[in-house]
Amino acid sequence: MSIGTIGVLTSGGDAPGMNACVRAVVRTALYKGIKVKAIMKGYQGLISGDIIDIDNRRFVSEIINRGGTILHTARCLAMTTPEGALLAADAVKKAGIDCLVVIGGDGSYRGALELSKAGVNVLCIPGTIDLDIASTEYTIGFDTAITTAMDAINKLRDTSTSHDRVSVVEVMGRRAGYIALWAGIAGGADVILMPEKPEDNNIDKICDVVNKNKDIGKTHSLIVVAEGVGSVEEIAKQVQERTGIEARATILGHLQRGGYPTALDRVHASMMGGIAVEIANENRFSRAICYKNGRYIDIDLEEAINMTKTIDKTMYDISKMLV
Ligand code: ATP
Repeated sequence: MSIGTIGVLTSGGDAPGMNACVRAVVRTALYKGIKVKAIMKGYQGLISGDIIDIDNRRFVSEIINRGGTILHTARCLAMTTPEGALLAADAVKKAGIDCLVVIGGDGSYRGALELSKAGVNVLCIPGTIDLDIASTEYTIGFDTAITTAMDAINKLRDTSTSHDRVSVVEVMGRRAGYIALWAGIAGGADVILMPEKPEDNNIDKICDVVNKNKDIGKTHSLIVVAEGVGSVEEIAKQVQERTGIEARATILGHLQRGGYPTALDRVHASMMGGIAVEIANENRFSRAICYKNGRYIDIDLEEAINMTKTIDKTMYDISKMLV
């Protein structure tokens, strides 16, 4: 017997493309004759019963092109407690939701696992700009975020070249360095610092690169730093003091989360949303939807959570040769 009602929520940090994913879940479900309930503000809205019926495909009209999430999102501390998870599980059952689709990052996956242990049917879709979910090679929002970061780096390059400065740019990524690595390569960074490579966060090594640039007549340098590494102001101060070249720090911050999603984000989001509904319709639950080796697959949720991700060695090694 196929499911009667599917629920959908977005959780954790918002990511461009989440709306396209919500739209895909809603439209694919309605197409298959499955009822849809949307939960507002992630797990917080679930616990407080902020749930709305969606019986019209037009509810998700005109959102494929919009950043953020129309369902809003939240970080919900209560969900991390056993009592909170039970309250959330009760809310799912009370709402008559047969399967809950969670679009979010690693933390959201952990919340979903707690729900599944409490008897809720869950499916997870990777929605985070950070690309830090080990089970998948793609997370919704990443391409838009790195494109935004690259655009900002391009602009900083213009001004640092004109003023012969060192630009130290902090990009997002929480505890992961993927945005820094990708935006750094795309923006032509001289130094890329990531939390996964603490040995690179060495002021002597960084100044060495800046000084070598100076020796070959390049009076500007670009240092891209993942937010999990440390203070960009401090790095800029140290570089200026030690090299004598003016250094400025810039924190890109939340602007990396906004903006209209790229085609890649919209297509991955649409595919993963549609696939989640198909999996639910096959009565398969506690699964994480992944993109791997050019294909969409699904794996056991707990297995997905227990996987660890590392920076691709080839990509890292090549990035070092590009400066
Ligand atoms: P992003 O990294 O893109 O911000 P995320 O999903 O990892 O996304 P988090 O804030 O870590 O963002 O998690 C989102 C929500 O998931 C938390 O606010 C909390 O409600 C729930 N959550 C996180 N960790 C756990 C956990 N260990 N157990 C239960 N719920 C959790």
